[in-house]
Amino acid sequence: MQPRYSPGILCLALTMLLAPAAPPFTQAQVIKSGPPSCPGVALTFDLCPVRKGAGYDQALIDYLIEQKIPATFFMSGKWMTKHDPQVRALLQIPFFEVGTHGEVHAHLPLHSAKGQEQEILGPVRLFKAKYAHDATLFRPPYGEFNDETVNVARALGLRFILWSVVSGDPDPTLTAIQIEDRLKRFVRKGSVIVMHANGKGKHTHEVVQDLHQHLLPERNLTPMTMSDLLICNGQAAP
Ligand SMILES: [Zn+2]
Repeated sequence: MQPRYSPGILCLALTMLLAPAAPPFTQAQVIKSGPPSCPGVALTFDLCPVRKGAGYDQALIDYLIEQKIPATFFMSGKWMTKHDPQVRALLQIPFFEVGTHGEVHAHLPLHSAKGQEQEILGPVRLFKAKYAHDATLFRPPYGEFNDETVNVARALGLRFILWSVVSGDPDPTLTAIQIEDRLKRFVRKGSVIVMHANGKGKHTHEVVQDLHQHLLPERNLTPMTMSDLLICNGQAAP
């Protein structure tokens, strides 16, 4: 018996055969690291909303400023409304960069495209209206996203930033040594390291000191902001 295919199925099969092997949006648009030839790494810190505590790791920020360490912060809208002086302080540091991290730290894939747009736009609008600042970097809460998230962010002109190295710093069961060992294993040229500056990381300050004093200089790696890392072409920033 001859198999019978409808013209529609044949057409679909042909389209699939002829389609170029382009990666789906989610792979093409999502940035996880800088160029592998770049002798730089991005130290990135999420400022997710917290229920208890200061929500701000002052000692960590002071250390970054004192040591003039470039860093990138991803702020949620809810965090920003509770931390106006801190937002202003971070915006004043010339070697810091800020991006956004959703309004209420929602699980984006659970929402419609419209809902995702509202969640993503919250802190973008706040930056513009209250701080006259264009924040063009976006990191999805929990690192969760679907194709709609990527499309929405792109339509809004935001760069979609994930990470290549998970520090695990908010995990209360990890010691500083364990986090440092993890970083030793995975940090390399072009790495984007995710950490937290909202006080959730008990050892973040200590780990950043170790990175700055030992791991990065030992590997000839320089901390860079996210944007500098993305345009780095094999040369460390002067
Ligand atoms: Zn977060």
